[in-house]
Amino acid sequence: MNYEGIVYRPPSEARSLIIQATIGCAHNTCVFCNMYRAKNFRVREMDEIKADIREGAQLYGKHIEKVFLADGDALCMDTKDMLEILHYIREKLPWTEQIAAYATTQDILEKSNEELKQIREAGLELLYIGAESGDNEVLRRMAKGVTAEEIGEAGEKAKSCGFRTSVTLISGLGSRERMREHALESARLISRMKPDYLGFLTLMLEEPAPICRLVERGDFLLLSPQEVMEEMALFLSHVDSEGTVFRANHASNYVNLRGTLNKDRDQLLDQIHEAVKRVNYKPEYYRGL
Ligand code: SF4
Repeated sequence: MNYEGIVYRPPSEARSLIIQATIGCAHNTCVFCNMYRAKNFRVREMDEIKADIREGAQLYGKHIEKVFLADGDALCMDTKDMLEILHYIREKLPWTEQIAAYATTQDILEKSNEELKQIREAGLELLYIGAESGDNEVLRRMAKGVTAEEIGEAGEKAKSCGFRTSVTLISGLGSRERMREHALESARLISRMKPDYLGFLTLMLEEPAPICRLVERGDFLLLSPQEVMEEMALFLSHVDSEGTVFRANHASNYVNLRGTLNKDRDQLLDQIHEAVKRVNYKPEYYRGL
């Protein structure tokens, strides 16, 4: 397998065969994100991608249950090329149960419904969408390049074309100043998108992400663990997304939370109140991305 640079994947893809269909992220400007800064975006040559699929099949055979297409937003590639990759995976790994990829809002909106349906029918089933926030001012400050309206539209479009969606938000991304708006507008966005899965990370600083300079200058105020919990409680009290599997059990989170919306809302809020009362947070040195 010819992996280029650091390869990122969602926690739930830990046991998947990872195929780098693209290198880097086509957007690559988010102020908090460091993942692909060292890479110049490009779509890999089809021959290289196919060679990795063949090699993966030879090495791991029927142990492969899932395939994840990396890097940052493989869905941005031409539909024709994406279909060719998916057909090749089906040919070499016909027993694969799931194929997934990261997808930006722009990727989803730029493709027609017809293209998305073709891609879905060819086997790509789960899209990981980094929403990060539902507050337009936070999205603007973080240079996300899209509005909450566009993210919501992309989520609905993906679902209407048959995809399952997994959406990520980031606790603390509003700084102290927009903590309340970040929580409430994110709840509104998720209530619209109604994803199958919702994951919360908690903001961490990783050099040389531009947000580090904002924090140094005092232009961005990091939340304390208690404030992160207050923000989360506000979000949970307002979100309405029946059946969404909710996870905030990433290495970056101060308190591990998991449940299903909306039925586990009270239990999740109790867990938060208990953690705040006992000041029971993951120590900084155990947190990671
Ligand atoms: S957060 Fe996502 S879209 Fe933004 S730069 Fe990082 S990988 Fe690209």
